[in-house]
Amino acid sequence: MEEQIGHVKLECIQGDIAKQHDVSVVVNAANAELKTGGGVAGALHQAAGAELAEAGRPFAPIQPGQAVITQAFNLPNDYVIHCLGPVYGKDQPEAVLLRQCYQHAIQLAEENNISSIAFPSISTGAFGYPIEEAAEIAVDEIVQQSQHLRSLKTIRFVLFSESDQAVYESACQSRMPHK
Ligand code: ADP
Repeated sequence: MEEQIGHVKLECIQGDIAKQHDVSVVVNAANAELKTGGGVAGALHQAAGAELAEAGRPFAPIQPGQAVITQAFNLPNDYVIHCLGPVYGKDQPEAVLLRQCYQHAIQLAEENNISSIAFPSISTGAFGYPIEEAAEIAVDEIVQQSQHLRSLKTIRFVLFSESDQAVYESACQSRMPHK
């Protein structure tokens, strides 16, 4: 699925966040220590190499909702933006903290003059956020931000499974400004 919002192309694809060759930045669903782990963090750290954890160390620990940027090392991208999503049922208010992840990531991308970014579904794996709720928040924040962007031209959601992709597509379609 692909939608145009002003100058920004919004995409929802099924895929692996560590294999997004055609975007400048990939977003990591990070842990507070910015170390490797399972899911998205595991895939990105494995593909990037040990230098990614080294680069994150000075920033750690980060707080839920916070985002930091590092180089991408052996990944096929220029930068990684690491976001710590809220743990569902623990970090409160979780909807605000999840929204801040997307907001802060977009802000960092704009500050660094980045034209394309790919997001995973932050918090919906190990952190237990129900994907329908998380998708509504993620898409809403991205659509709102899209009206005011200068450098970003492509924003992509990369979903691991077909069913997750369907959830994000439906959130995108119902949130389009023309609808
Ligand atoms: P969190 O700790 O923020 O919940 P996870 O990495 O555990 O982050 O999971 C976030 C989402 O990313 C889940 O929906 C999971 O299925 C998905 N996911 C896991 N591995 C990958 C990958 N390599 N590429 C894209 N999405 C992935």
